[in-house]
Amino acid sequence: MTQYVIPPPPRASLPVSTGPERFPIRRVFCVGRNYAAHAREMGKDPDREPPFYFYKPADTVIDAAGTVPYPPLTSAFHHEIELVVALGAGGRDVAPADALDLVWGYGVGVDLTRRDLQDEAKKSSRPWDWSKGFDASAPCTPIHPVDTVGHPDSGEIWLRVNDDLKQQGDLKDLIWSVPEVISAISTAGDLAPGDLIYTGTPGGVGPMQPGDVVSGGVRGVAEFTFTIGGAGQPLSGDQ
Ligand code: MN
Repeated sequence: MTQYVIPPPPRASLPVSTGPERFPIRRVFCVGRNYAAHAREMGKDPDREPPFYFYKPADTVIDAAGTVPYPPLTSAFHHEIELVVALGAGGRDVAPADALDLVWGYGVGVDLTRRDLQDEAKKSSRPWDWSKGFDASAPCTPIHPVDTVGHPDSGEIWLRVNDDLKQQGDLKDLIWSVPEVISAISTAGDLAPGDLIYTGTPGGVGPMQPGDVVSGGVRGVAEFTFTIGGAGQPLSGDQ
């Protein structure tokens, strides 16, 4: 057994819908601008320019339930509802026709974004990490195995803040499909079991405030509800 000089940090993981075992997380890949309506609202041409990616650290993934903390350093804390793909197998240079063989299951996540920091990063040609990869920035539902939900390629995706429908789209409107995204990422390096892919958000992104109740889902996959916590609360809650 490997001995460590300090206790090793806990393995990031998510519950699964079918049993007590958890889904261990290796990496979190996120796809930028993958629905035309969102590309347009971010001021970009939605033509099929090649997909692009960013990461969130694995330990930013939390349950999309209970209270999600309002993060520091922002006054534009935005929601982005997304289908999440959970890989049970890996590979390099995977053909689109073979890509779905890698998928263990699907969940529904929210790519939480400090939009003001992202806007500043874009303006100054700096990295996006501080705007995307902060603590608790990747809420996700339990992972539903392919056995139970198949490989969804159409169906409503939506998000509400309180009673207002803010985001609504359909998986069939993904600019780059799930197999195409898996294949494209696998040209850049190895995909591996435990990888999550946040596949991009439809139009309608916008801000949330402390106390807001955020709910959403993908028809036929999963739904969630959480509440935004007060600003400045540490994640541990033991202030
Ligand atoms: Mn996103």
